[in-house]
This record gives sequence, C-alpha cells and structure tokens, in this order.
Amino acid sequence: MHKLALVSLSALAMAGCSGKVEPVASVPPVAAAPEPAPYAPVIPEGTGVFAQPSTLPFQTPDFSKIKDSDFQPAIEQGIAINQAEIEAIANNPAEPTFENTMVAMEKSGQMLTRAYYVFSALTSANTNDTLDKVDSATAPKLAALRDAIYLNDKLFARVKSLYDRRDSLGLAADEQRLLKLTYDRFVQNGAMLQGADKEKLKSLNGRISTLQTEFGQKLTAGTRDAALVVNTKAELAGLSEAEIATAAKAAADRGMKGKFLLPLQNTTQQPLLARLSNRATRKALYEASWNRSERGGANDTRALISELAQLRAEKAQLLGFPDFASFTMSDQMAKTPGNALKFMEGLVPALAAAQKREAEEIDALIKRSGGKFSVEPWDWDYYAERLRKEKYAFDESQVKPYFEITNVLENGVFFAANQLYGLTFRKRDDLPVYHPDVTVYTVYDKDGSEMALFYFDPWKRDNKQGGAWMSNFVDQSHLMGTKPVVFNVQNSPKPAPGQPLLISFTDAETMFHEFGHALHGILSNQRYPSISGASTARDFVEFPSQFNENWMTDPRVFANFAKHYQTGAPMPKDLVAKVERAARFNQGYALGEALTAAILDQKWHALPASAGRQDVNAFENQALGSLGLLTAKVPPRYRTSYFRHIWGGGYAAGYYAYQWTEMLNHDAFQWFVENGGMTRENGQRFRDMVLSQGNSKDYAEMYRAFAGRDPGVEPMLKARGLK
Ligand SMILES: [Zn+2]
Repeated sequence: MHKLALVSLSALAMAGCSGKVEPVASVPPVAAAPEPAPYAPVIPEGTGVFAQPSTLPFQTPDFSKIKDSDFQPAIEQGIAINQAEIEAIANNPAEPTFENTMVAMEKSGQMLTRAYYVFSALTSANTNDTLDKVDSATAPKLAALRDAIYLNDKLFARVKSLYDRRDSLGLAADEQRLLKLTYDRFVQNGAMLQGADKEKLKSLNGRISTLQTEFGQKLTAGTRDAALVVNTKAELAGLSEAEIATAAKAAADRGMKGKFLLPLQNTTQQPLLARLSNRATRKALYEASWNRSERGGANDTRALISELAQLRAEKAQLLGFPDFASFTMSDQMAKTPGNALKFMEGLVPALAAAQKREAEEIDALIKRSGGKFSVEPWDWDYYAERLRKEKYAFDESQVKPYFEITNVLENGVFFAANQLYGLTFRKRDDLPVYHPDVTVYTVYDKDGSEMALFYFDPWKRDNKQGGAWMSNFVDQSHLMGTKPVVFNVQNSPKPAPGQPLLISFTDAETMFHEFGHALHGILSNQRYPSISGASTARDFVEFPSQFNENWMTDPRVFANFAKHYQTGAPMPKDLVAKVERAARFNQGYALGEALTAAILDQKWHALPASAGRQDVNAFENQALGSLGLLTAKVPPRYRTSYFRHIWGGGYAAGYYAYQWTEMLNHDAFQWFVENGGMTRENGQRFRDMVLSQGNSKDYAEMYRAFAGRDPGVEPMLKARGLK
C-alpha cells in the first residue's frame, strides 16, 4: 500500500536530477581588462530514447519506442550527465545565488529522472531477467551519485552560504522550504563534520551498514531453522489436505521424510494459527515464532541489536541530535520521538479496554466449547476466527457481483473525485502502454482544462511485485513546465477470459486507497519538482490515501457504483452493514499488535548514547510491561529480536507512521463530517490546503491551516470501534 519507494528520486531529485544546467550569467565585460573566460562547463550529451522528453502528450513515456536494452545505457549516461551538472554547480566561480545553486540543482538530472522513473515502474510492475540485471548493475552507481552530491564540500558550501543568509534573500515560502530541506539533508549526511569527526562518521556508517546486513542474514537463516516440525498428521488437524501435503514435502525437502514442517512467516502471529485445532501444535508453532532469534548460537540476534542500537545513538549524537529517532524524524510531521510516543500512548486507555473486552468474549467462547483455560496468544486467532464467522458470516461471493472493476473505477473512485475536487476523466486509447492490461485516462480540471494522465494496472501477474502502489512517470512542476503523469498498480486476481471483471471488497478499497495517492500527484500545484506531489514524509504520505478510502462507503458514492453487474440492483442494506461491522471486529488485537511494535521501535531509538548498550530482553520487557496493555495475550507484531523493518534498515523510528497517518485521516474526515460532508467547497479546501501542497510547507502547519486545529486520536478510536 505504500507509495512506491523511489530510491533515487526522492533522494536524488532533492539534490536534483535533470537534463541541462541553466546557462550561468557571466559577468559583463569590463572595457579595459581582458575579458574573463565565461564559465562554460562541459556537460555530456545523452543519446537514445530518454535523451529528450517524449513528444507524446504530457511528455508521457513512449512505450512503443522503449526497449529493455535502452535502460542501462540511459541510466549510465543520465548518471554521468547529472554528475557533470553537479560539478558545474559546485565549481561555479559566481557567488552562490538561489538561482545558480538551488534552481540549477532542481533542473539537473532530467535524463536520469526520465529513464529511472520508467525503469523503476517496470521493474516493480512488469519485470524480466534483463531488467533485474540492469537493476543490480546500476544500483551501486546510483549510490555513488548520491555520495557525489551529499559529500561534495564545495556544493555544500554554496548551499550553506544561502542557508545562512536565508532571511535576507527575499525567498518565497516554497523556496525557503526547499533550501531548508536541502541544507538539512546535507547536515544529516555529515556535511558539517570536520577531520576526525568525519572519519568517525565514516567508520560508524560502515559498521552500522555491516550490522544491518548481518542482521538480515541471521534473521533469514534463524527463521528458516526455527520452522516447526511435527511427527504426525493428527497434529495438523484443521489444515486442508493440500496444506498437509505441502508440509510433508517441506519436511522431505529438508531430509525429514515422513514428518511435517511448517515454515515461519515474518510476523509473530502465524496465519495457520487461525485454523490449527490442536492446541499443543498451536503453542509449539507460536513459541517457534516468538523465540526464532533467541536460541543462542550463530543466528541469535540479541548481541548484534544491542551494539547496533548503541552505534545509531552515537551517530545521532555526532550529528548533533539527542538520539537516533530525533535524527531520522527531523523532517517528518511528528518531528520528535516524544511526539510520536505521546500520540501512541494516547491510544492506550481505549485500546486496553477493548483488548479486555475482546479477551473476555474469547474466554467465553472457549468455555462454551468446553475448554478449561484462558486465552493465550497462540489461541487468539483460532477463536477470533470462529467468533468472526458466528457474528458476521457472509461470503465473498455474495459481495463480488456488486464490484465490477471498471464500474468501481469510473462510477466510484472517479465519481468521488468529481464530487469533491471537480475532476472529470476520459479514457483514451491512443497512448502506448507497457502491458495490454493497462488503461489510460486523461484527467480534466473543473474548468475542463487537461490536468494529468492516469494509468491503471490492476491485475496480478507473475512478473509484478505483490501489493499495490502509486508513483509518477512525470512529476508536476511549474519550473519544468510539466504536468503530472501518475499510475496505480495493484494485484487483483484476474477473472478467466469471458468472465465478468469482478473484484473483492478489499480490492475495491485498495483502489480508493491508491487513488488517494494518485490525487496527491494529480492535484499537485508546485514550482519545484523535488517538493511536488506525493514526495512527502513517511508519516504524511499515507494520509491522502487512507483519507480517500472513507469515500468508498459514503452513501452517495456507494449507491453510485455498488450495483449488481447483471441486474443493476444496489447492494442489499443488511449485507452492506455486515461488511462494515466486520471491518471493526477484533480491532483491540489488530491495533494492539501494530502499536506495541511501533512503541518498541520508538523506545529503542529514543535511547541516548549515554544510556550504553542494553540487555535486549530486559529492555523489551520494561518497554512493553509499562504500557498497561494485555501484551502477554496480544504480543507485538514483531519482537525486538526479529523486527526486520527497524534493524535491517529502512524503517528505524518510522514504524509509527501508519498509525500516525491513520489519525490524520480520521481527524480530517471528522472535519468533513462536522462541516457538511462531501461537498465541492469542502473538497476544494482540502485540495488547496493539503493535496496541492506537496512538501512545500511544514506538515503540522499545513494540517492546522486546513482543519483549524491539531489532529487528535478520538476520531481514529471511534472509526476502529474502540470507543
Ligand atoms: Zn498507501
């Protein structure tokens, strides 16, 4: 559900990716003195299909001309051009100005952007061996380009000179923001450090990176080794014959013919726990999961984590931050670990009460079924699944006939965008696509002018990554004169040829979600490409998408699209109610496991360097034990020792972001409810103050300007049925 991670571009675009450096104004010749040679850096020329913008409408990629063999040379040329452009900016003899430094960086790297946007879209949605090879070959070169930008002392000196004079340069608000974000990013990369400190940072980065890689390897091996092996088929009661056969084969493959092996999934909870009726097997599977990385020996991750947490804290301290969370969160909406923790702890009282209610309901069911025990974590899913069936029994096949995909898109998703933001859509068949299943729409603004292109790639394919995402082929930017070209990709199972194109309730919801990201791109109204559209902080980027899900079940929208594909009849009211109530089932558990994982992440990364190395189990027990939640029955989705998101890289001090954006989503929806609901006027306000703003403002200020208040947790708790 995330926006596709644009490795290069959010990082590179920041320091600029694009075609040609602006001609730098030379000093007017002085009569007597010999004329100084004008500054004319040599920038290599690109060749091939990505060398120039496409001539198609909206500069959209011309898939009729792009071949797999084009990407490697185009990316390599793009990198070389971008490197030359960066050098040219850094070595410019003229005094640094916003124009010759910041704007020049924004305009640099255009060929790389063009090639890489298409390349990363295809490697995610429609890959093959050739593209995968290009990916491996170009990744280190892209990393080297990032270093060439952020470790360039001369370039940083120019940025710093502007930053130090920022209040006297007469900059507009978006320019101030661009300058601050760029400056902060250099500082975060160590640009301010001198001599020994710079060396220390290098050595910390090296060791941290090694530990992160080692963690990933230990966890993969440990998870594999901790798979549960049982001796008899009877122990697997509740599973299907096909699943039992798979377990038998998995055991045989590891030299244990005649036994049965259940491999572990990443999370604490294992999906099979919902169906294994043998309690001893459930307990054994759960314990295998919980202890996978704490079994002593080579794959025990605890000593490594203890060192890694300490080194991250030391790195943050060296860069001038009190702890690692403060370091990584400085450009986020929450800004500090204190704010994130305060938000999460604000959810605890209602959550604790809900968990207690849910546990009691499950205990009652256990008793009714003749059990003489109280629910344990290995029982929860099993009995919750039975409760769900008892209370909300409905079949996916009853719901699907009301969700024909084109109808959901045009009369649901697009209809909501029309009612709220005044947009209209027209399908077009004249533009080449990368796969025959992809459709293209022109998006028109309220005055009928052409605004954007929208590509939709809904069906599961073997060469497509799992999940759903949104990204851009072309970013909106007034500076570059470009309008947005955005795409949504998802993985709905494609019905057989000749069958109606029906999708599940969840897939329809995913369409609204991803289109919320798409609107963030389509409605962008920014000058600078690196702060336009959905290129926003992790704890903000899921806000427009989660928010857009609300409109799916708005009565006016739902009635407009949820019609039987054969009869056109609306979905029966009791079925709608059942589906909606089911979505609020077991939320004390669902939110609980996510929240405790996020709190663990945050507490680990809020440790100052002075705290020293921690004992992993003692720290975890303390962090979870002090919350007042039923953590013994509702354990965190990931335990410290196998929390790949935070120790393997990427999400350190960022796991709270999903809940944070959920809070924003429900708070904003509450604002709509209080102000007359789905109206053009309300939609326009949200469009103007949030969706068009990209990353051009501090997020908290942006939100306050829209809602007239700071966001709170009450609407979120209500929406989850926890209040
Ligand atoms: Zn998303």
